[in-house]
Amino acid sequence: MRLFTFQRASSIDDAVASGSGAAFLAGGTNLVDLMKIEVLNPERVVDVARLDLGKIEVRDRALEIGALASNAAVAEHRDVRRAAPGLSEALLSGASPQLRNAATVGGNLLQRTRCAYYRDLGTRCNKREPGSGCDAMDGWTRMHAVLGVSDKCIAAHPSDMCVALYALDAVVRVRGPGGEREIPIGDLHLLPGDHPDQEFSLRVGELITGVRIPMDALAARSRYVKVRDRQAYAFALASCAAAVQVQGGVVRAARFALGGVGTKPWRVPEAERSTEGRPATRQTFADAAEMALRGAKPRRDNAFKVELAKRTAVRALMLSAEIAS
Ligand code: SF4
Repeated sequence: MRLFTFQRASSIDDAVASGSGAAFLAGGTNLVDLMKIEVLNPERVVDVARLDLGKIEVRDRALEIGALASNAAVAEHRDVRRAAPGLSEALLSGASPQLRNAATVGGNLLQRTRCAYYRDLGTRCNKREPGSGCDAMDGWTRMHAVLGVSDKCIAAHPSDMCVALYALDAVVRVRGPGGEREIPIGDLHLLPGDHPDQEFSLRVGELITGVRIPMDALAARSRYVKVRDRQAYAFALASCAAAVQVQGGVVRAARFALGGVGTKPWRVPEAERSTEGRPATRQTFADAAEMALRGAKPRRDNAFKVELAKRTAVRALMLSAEIAS
């Protein structure tokens, strides 16, 4: 680990005044890992873990979740399980109980990719070292993305929580030197394009303070399905957070987001709208899943993900709609 200065933030204002070159430390489950292997080398680490940002409450028909709430606390919270069960399921499908106790919502939102080349200083990686190249392109690509890829980076987004938050239309609250603002979750993560090193739409010094999730009829029906190599402590090969509202056997509204297959959590509004007014059947959901995977660009080892993601989406949509498989 390289040398850095350490500071404990006494307030949110104190934290956001830390400026460029600083990294915020909360649970440390991702940042410290990456600092140990010298993939991330911040000049300053600002400890925000003691700030008062851990509350989970219901306000104005929305779940308000503080950035320092642990993944475990959110997953087990009564109001979350009732109003957004898909979020609880997504969190419980991630990592291990120990990690979920330490990891925070803010940290999970900024979780870095698990691309093996990104973590190996002996390989070329445009995300770690802009312009150096990408050894994943002709390498082992089984875990990589098929949607949102560029010729500079094909790394898959790793978070389960973010996929659920996207399907729930969550909004991320941030505080920075310029004041407070809100970012729709779909705009927080950037596509790799020509600059895979730029991963988030946060401005210099901005600290995530919380997440707001509207408590609507769809959220209450949300479900999360994750397919992985083993039943615990594994990243998604494909996942889907889905929320469907059915009336008289007909789909009234549907939202679904895919994980494990995109360079960011993936939603296709056109595919969601295609279900509206149609019978709530496997065929309706299969058509929507087909549409969502249009434009997929698989490589040698991950072509299987295209069909797997479609089936995962259908399964999640059917669970939410309570249709027997
Ligand atoms: Fe780096 Fe992205 Fe290539 Fe992985 S896929 S080696 S993260 S540039």
